[in-house]
Amino acid sequence: MAVSAYDPQNIFAKILRGEIPCTKVYEDDHVLAFNDIAPQAPTHILVIPKGAYTSYDDFATNASDAEIIAYTRAIGKISAAAGVVEDGYRLIANTRDHGRQDVPHLHVHIIGGKKLGLMLP
Ligand code: ADP
Repeated sequence: MAVSAYDPQNIFAKILRGEIPCTKVYEDDHVLAFNDIAPQAPTHILVIPKGAYTSYDDFATNASDAEIIAYTRAIGKISAAAGVVEDGYRLIANTRDHGRQDVPHLHVHIIGGKKLGLMLP
């Protein structure tokens, strides 16, 4: 199945353009992170690249080394700042239809702050 083109009207693109608000927890030249609007745990942060990437595979294939390094390091820094590193946490990147991705702009969920349930397929 073909991978869809990037949709500039997706909700995270609107957040990046400042058209709708978010509760920002981190920003640098390549990365924005904000609290999930419907948190599934005490810590539930979404980390997105500023570039127009639909998914992890799109990002890994097409992003520059600088973007990939910034994104990877930011996820680590944000997790540490959120205070979840010692007890543990979960990173999730839902991807397209089978992965139940709702918003077609790459986002990694950082979820923690409590003992999480087991993940089932
Ligand atoms: P799922 O909804 O199945 O987790 P995604 O991985 O695409 O699919 O996650 C999208 C996430 O974006 C959801 O956790 C949702 O609560 C969150 N979300 C949607 N709109 C906003 C918004 N305006 N601000 C912050 N988070 C949002």
